[in-house]
Parts: sequence; C-alpha cells; structure tokens
Amino acid sequence: MDKINYLDFFPYEQFRRDQEDITKKIEKASIEKKITLLAAPNGTGKTIIALCALLPLSIRNNLKIIYMCRTHSQNTRIIKELTKISDFLKKKTPQIQVNGLSIRGRNEMCLNETLLSLKLKPKESMSVCGDLRKNKNCRYFLNLIKKRSEYDNPIDIAPDLLSEPVDAEELINLCKDKKLCPYFLSKFLLKEMRIITCNYQWIFNPFIRENFLQFIDEELNNCILVLDECHNVIDMATDINSDRITPYSLRICLKDLEIFRSPSIMQRFVKILLSHLEKKKKSLSVAEIEIKAENFLLQVYSQLGFSNLNDFKNLVRDLHTFSVSIHDEKLANGDISRDFVGALAEFWLKWIRCYLRDNYFFCYNLKRVKGKPLISIEIVALDPRDVVIPILKECYTSVHLSGTVNPYVYNNLMGLRESGKSYKGIVASSPFKKENIKAIITEGVDTRRGSRTGPMFKKMLSKIDEVIYSTPANIGIFCASYKILNALVTNGIESIANKNKKQLFIEEPGLSASENAFLVNDFKSMASPSRNGAVLLGVCGGRNSEGEDYPGDYMNSVIIAGFPYHLPTPRVNAKIKYYDKVFDKQGWNFAYLYPAVQRANQASGRPIRKLKDKGAIIFMDFRFKQKYKWISEWIRKELEVVPDKKGALIKSLYPFWHS
Ligand code: SF4
Repeated sequence: MDKINYLDFFPYEQFRRDQEDITKKIEKASIEKKITLLAAPNGTGKTIIALCALLPLSIRNNLKIIYMCRTHSQNTRIIKELTKISDFLKKKTPQIQVNGLSIRGRNEMCLNETLLSLKLKPKESMSVCGDLRKNKNCRYFLNLIKKRSEYDNPIDIAPDLLSEPVDAEELINLCKDKKLCPYFLSKFLLKEMRIITCNYQWIFNPFIRENFLQFIDEELNNCILVLDECHNVIDMATDINSDRITPYSLRICLKDLEIFRSPSIMQRFVKILLSHLEKKKKSLSVAEIEIKAENFLLQVYSQLGFSNLNDFKNLVRDLHTFSVSIHDEKLANGDISRDFVGALAEFWLKWIRCYLRDNYFFCYNLKRVKGKPLISIEIVALDPRDVVIPILKECYTSVHLSGTVNPYVYNNLMGLRESGKSYKGIVASSPFKKENIKAIITEGVDTRRGSRTGPMFKKMLSKIDEVIYSTPANIGIFCASYKILNALVTNGIESIANKNKKQLFIEEPGLSASENAFLVNDFKSMASPSRNGAVLLGVCGGRNSEGEDYPGDYMNSVIIAGFPYHLPTPRVNAKIKYYDKVFDKQGWNFAYLYPAVQRANQASGRPIRKLKDKGAIIFMDFRFKQKYKWISEWIRKELEVVPDKKGALIKSLYPFWHS
C-alpha cells in the first residue's frame, strides 16, 4: 500500500490534455499538506483528478475524504465517478477497496410524516427529531435501532447495496422499502466510509459539524476536505455566521413564554421588540436600512428599565435557561418543540458579542412576499474568513475546485494564506476546441439604471432577435435582474421568439423546485431539430443560470443581458467599506464587481459543459468590454467585440452555426 499512487485509481483508458500533470501536482501538494486551488473549466475532469490525487494519501494515512458540493446532483456525480474507480479496482487491484456515501440533510432524508409536515429549518428539525426519538415516537428510528441490534456492523443491514459507493437517493429508496430512517442509517455507516460527499454545511456550520465528526468518529485533522464549486463557499460562510428575528418568530416566543408562565419581564421584552417591528414595517420606505447597533441596544434595555448592559445580558442568559426548561417540559408532555425562545436568546447574545465589531452589519430588512411586507432585524456577518480559517487550519489539507473562480479574490476572501498552511494555485488551460466557442461582447447596449429607456430595450431586443435567428436550437437569456427581464417582456420578447418559431419560457421568482424543474425540462425538450428550439428567459444568479447544465443542443447560445451588479444596498456598501479596510482598498472590486462578474461567468458557461459541446456566448452590455479581464479565461481568449450595427451579430454568429 505504501507504493500506491494516482495511476492505481485512474479508471479511463487515457488522460485528457493536462489531466495527468494536474493530478500529479495536487497529489504532491496534498502530501505536503498544502492548500490547493484548481481553477479549471468544465470538461477538465476536476472530479476524477481530485479523487485520483487524494485516494492514495487517504488510504496510506487512513484519512477520510469529505467531498463537499452545493447540490444533490453534484453529489450524485461524485458517487458515479467513485463507482467507476471502485469497479476499476475490483478488476485490477481487488486488494484495494474504496467505498463512499453521499448524504443529505435531515429534512431531505427524513421519512417521518410529523416532522415533514412541519416544514422546519434544519436547526429546528434537529430539535424536533431529537424529541420524537426521545419519546419513542418515530417508528423509522425504532425499526433501525432494532435492526442494528441484530447485526454486529451497521453495514450488514444492506450488505449488497453497501458494498459499493452509494448515493443518498438509493439509500432513501432502500429505507422506504424497509421502513428504516435513512438519515440515521447514513450516519451509522459514515464511520465505515472512505469518502463522504455532502453539502458544505456539514463542515462549515458549527452545529452540524460537531455531530457529524462524532458520527464519522474522526477529528477534523484526519480529514481531507474537497470544496467543489468552491466560489459558493464565500457567501455560504457569511450566511452561516448571520442571524435574524422576525415578528413571526417573536409571536411564537411570546406564546411559549405565556403558556409556560415566564417572568413577566421576558414577555415585556418580546412585546417591546414586536411593537417596534410592527411600527417599523409601516414607516420603512426602503427595503433595507442600517441599525446603529450600540444605540439600538441602549434603546432596548432602557425601555426594559435597565441602566446598564450587564443587567440586560443577565436577562438574555435567563431567557436562554428558561428556553431549556420550556423544552424539557414540552418533551415530558410528549409535545414537539420548536425552540424560538432559545433562538431569540442566542440572537441577542450574538448582538452583545458583536455590536462593537466592524465585521458585522446590523439592519432592518423589508421584503414583499406575495404582496405582503415581511420585516426582520438582521445581524449580517461580513467576513467569510471568520468561519473558514479555523476549518482550513484544523483539517489535514484541503483542495478547492472551481470553473469560474478568480484565484486572487478567492485567496483573499477565504484567507487561504492566513490558515497556517502553504498554498498551491493551479490554473488549467481550456480543454475546448477554439472552433467550438464563439464569445462576443456587443457594443451599443447600456443597462445602467439611467439608460433603461424604451428605445434601449428595443435596441437590445433587435440584437436578441439576431442571436435567436442565427441559433439552430435553444437559447438562454440570463438578465442582470428581474427588472431587466420584465422590461424585455413588456417590450415584446415573446413576439420576437415566436417570429423565429421558438417558444418562450420565463423563469419566475418564487417558483418551487419542482415547478422550475418542469419549466426547464420542457425547455430542454424543445431542443430537437424537429421542434426548432426555444428561448429560456431567466436571471443571472438564479437556479437556472448556476445550478443547471445545458449540454448539447439544450442550449446553443447564451446571452448575458446587462451587467449583473447587485443593488447597492446598505449591506453591500458596508461590505465595500469593510473590505476597503481589511483588503487594502479592494472593497469595490471584492464586494461589488467580483460577485457580479462571478454571476455572469457562471451563466455564460451553461451551454459548454462537455468537451464536445459547441456554444455561443454573447455579453450584452458595453461594461463587459471595460471589465473583460474579469471574464473567465477560457472565454476571454476567444472574445471578439461586435460593433453596434444592424446585422453585425448575424454576420458573426450565423456562419458559426451554419457553415
Ligand atoms: S429519526 Fe429519522 S425518520 Fe425519525 S424524525 Fe428523525 S430523521 Fe426523521
């Protein structure tokens, strides 16, 4: 086993261009415990590279590989590659075995009808599931425990299925048949697994990590972390470290405090917050407004009659203790507990910890959902490094993979060089044939707020018309915002699609995952030559422009309509100010420009997913020409600028598709 290397695991006939070289580099860097960042377009084969580079080290040093992705379908893809490796080993070197399991959160794996009907957030589900188990009210869990007691090793519960890498979907189906809890069966099996594929939350969310490490029976320093599509981790890390309260959560708190006869001051505290939020909801004229955290704290505790922060802190601690007694009493009565009181106490303990720190921002946020205003008070974490660095420090090593990441920005925002480990950056060259990629920036389109006029949208539509006319099958149009999407609809995109005999599909905000899946499947089904193709109108940063692949004719051309800057909200401005301070005046680049270009880069890569794919990418906003250096390298090297002339896009695109 000491002599094994990446070649023992590579299941294909031959390496693609650069694949072997990159694999060797990652293998070497990981042995040296360096952090590796691989920036490589789709089609490079990043998954097989990472698995082959890391498995020898994992087996030699008995380390677990935690392979983290954003979506279930990405996890499934990892298990498929691992299965190829496992089959290859069975034939070539049966003495080496690799197994693996993809896992999902409790809400996605649970079969208990009561828990599912409550539609809870992950942390609440954890608590409710705990109560159901303690009260012996979950038959799936009881069946599993009974089964486990019949076997020495949990893997024997389903030996056939579990002798190979297993996807969560297969495990759930098996458990449905046998009436077992898939979530806990997967946890019982984790200890036996060489590779675990999961969402980033399992490692980066401290509540989930603690449990997870217990189940895998390993310390983090015995784990190799792989962060697939790692550009997502930046926002995920700040989200995990943020918190909010809403009138809905406060009303449930108040009800619990009244039922369980809390000291009156606790109820008064919640009533003060509730009435404050109700007043704010009526008076707020913008979606977001900064709260001066220190003043607000003073205002709250003064209203409660306290003269100093310590007295308020004691109240919040008492509230936390009281939440535990509520929970225990509910549990003893066989009730299901939703711990909003504990969450309220944690929110204020965090406020007290962070109100003087400049890496947090405090605000009211007002959203409209189905026409109704919903208000919240939020604590917004600004610095991803607070969550990321301790993990990167502690793990054995980590490999970061992305097709669109900007290594310089990522390195800074994730604090890779501050983690106490050396760093190895690898930028792969494009695996695509030049003749298969057409990349265009159109001149003459300006979607800045002041320029969004009727004539400008008419001009955009005439250029979109030229792209649709030149493209044989499907076209994706990803707009900078829903405002631009709606303006294209109002100005007649449907008649342009119809004129070109293509059906228009429009992504709407608030569609459920299954409604959206129907929309996308219908769009894809129009790709055959007999059906003449279709147009999908969506937004950058949405699930169809980032989580969905459109290989082959599913999307021939993609248009990025407008430069997808986020609205300059107070929280974005706070981030810019903070990043200016901690990243040497890079606030605007890191907090404003980079996320926008990242959204455009993600959307622009949708049609080119496989080596043989052919695709056209059209950036429709003059600002892309100014910022072209930020566009993904594999696209940038093919870029041409098309002048603002009638027919110029047809002249460039038609021969690409039809000659
Ligand atoms: S034990 Fe399993 S099936 Fe039962 S509530 Fe918890 S996650 Fe759901």
